[in-house]
Amino acid sequence: QSQELSEAQIDYHAALQALVENGTRMVCTGRMHTDRICRFESLCYSTEAEEFIYFHSNSSVMLPNLGSRRFQPALLDLSSVEDHNTQYFNFVELPAAALKFMPKPVFVPDVALIANRFNPDNLMHVFHDDLLPIYYTMQQFSDLDLEARLFFMEGWNEGVHFDLYKLLSNKQPLLREELKTLGRLLCFTKSYVGLSKITTWYQYGFVQPQGPKANILVSGNEIRQFTKFMMQKLNISLEESSSEEYIVVFSRTINRLILNEAELILALAQEFQMKTISVSLEEHSFSDIVRLISNASMLVSMHGAQLVMSLFLPRGATVVELFPYAINPEHYTPYKTLATLPGMDLQYIAWQNTDREDTVTYPDRPWDQGGIAHLDKAEQERIIKSTEVPRHLCCRNAEWLFRAYQDTKVNIPSLIHVIRQTVKSKPGPRKQKWSGSLYPGKVRDAKCQASVQGTSEAKLAVSWQIPWNLRYLKVREVKYEVWIQEQGENTYMPYILSHQNHTFSENIKPFTIYLVWIRCIFNKNLQGPFADVLLCST
Ligand code: UDP
Repeated sequence: QSQELSEAQIDYHAALQALVENGTRMVCTGRMHTDRICRFESLCYSTEAEEFIYFHSNSSVMLPNLGSRRFQPALLDLSSVEDHNTQYFNFVELPAAALKFMPKPVFVPDVALIANRFNPDNLMHVFHDDLLPIYYTMQQFSDLDLEARLFFMEGWNEGVHFDLYKLLSNKQPLLREELKTLGRLLCFTKSYVGLSKITTWYQYGFVQPQGPKANILVSGNEIRQFTKFMMQKLNISLEESSSEEYIVVFSRTINRLILNEAELILALAQEFQMKTISVSLEEHSFSDIVRLISNASMLVSMHGAQLVMSLFLPRGATVVELFPYAINPEHYTPYKTLATLPGMDLQYIAWQNTDREDTVTYPDRPWDQGGIAHLDKAEQERIIKSTEVPRHLCCRNAEWLFRAYQDTKVNIPSLIHVIRQTVKSKPGPRKQKWSGSLYPGKVRDAKCQASVQGTSEAKLAVSWQIPWNLRYLKVREVKYEVWIQEQGENTYMPYILSHQNHTFSENIKPFTIYLVWIRCIFNKNLQGPFADVLLCST
């Protein structure tokens, strides 16, 4: 690898001179450490100190220049998980003159993206925290192209899904430990530090119980652009007119088992008259699983990280998530949130085992596999008696782990019943028309004309033109919303209208100033912006 790094020819002396003279240059985006990504020239890293170094010189730049606020709590989050105190990034500062006394720098010629993976052994975390954020961080900055190199600083080894990370760029990603083999002082010619959080949809419960993020900013479209990229890299072609429809049962083989899987597969096949196949991460290659899921009509699986693969389902498919006894599906919704993102166009169904007879617990296993033998007797008894795990914070709640690692005998009639409430006929990818939701622009040329009749009655005739983009669109239903507000009042009268003009006479007083707000609405719920307020005096 060190050979690979030095392949690109750089003029060492020129590079060293530039570093000494120009020092480090940093310009960041983002107002807070939680939304910041920084671009550096000549950011260095001491593999001995395991610290990044910023060299000051006459030409160095540091924006934002935070002073000691840089440590409150950090310059930025190095992973995509918000404000996690083990994932902070900072650098130490030195004058460029100190380079004279330091090891000779080794220059990294590739444009670098420097970040932390959050939990590279868990597939949900791999996709949600790392792959999607890396992909879209690279989309944000044009020099982070396929020739850029990823540097993972969290300190883990490759992990079981390293091949997936390798798909994101043509260069082998480098891990923190590997940097030591490159030299004692590394200097990144050009680098970006931090990851975009714009695609993440779930928070894992570090400060409040887990749940969907408060402000989700990603839609199915961006998810599918990413999966399309991944599938191209995996050499999987989307079979447009695949003949046979089928159901995939994604099983776990180590823990959280479906005890009657054969029976389940048979029942699904019979009920939906579809071939039903079972896959697992242990028995199938990742590409094979993606190939199968990307054409499936339904994906059935125990709650767990493997369900993040519903990312690859075709539009219109159904996700069925099975929850063990005492685990409330509403409290653990990473996959529900994913399936129901706007534009994902998946149907989501949760089933929970509510029958104690159908669960197999493992109280004697180690704590991290759900064992509870280490707890005192009273607490063990309470957990065993409890019918629902109370909401809790991440990550070591014994009751949660105990219930999460149960095996389940799935009650087939109950499961089929739940699926049938949503899937009436055949499940599966509908060849849907594109029902893209486009919003109207502002209405144009709004005008009003008042007429006064006597001392107590008045009328207000308001008219406007259609939004500019409407003439290029086919829209099922176009309506207009008009608010009429008397100047100085903080209430208004709302109207929904079908035409581009209307004469208002109800509650309109003479010799009064009205503010008229107008916006267009497509298909009942696609509300456009209000046009500039119209001042109308009667
Ligand atoms: N895993 C698996 N088969 C199993 C158990 C786990 O493939 O029988 C995978 C799982 O999909 C995840 C990782 O191993 O990627 C860690 O699983 P864990 O139970 O810790 O996490 P969870 O699935 O609950 O998020």
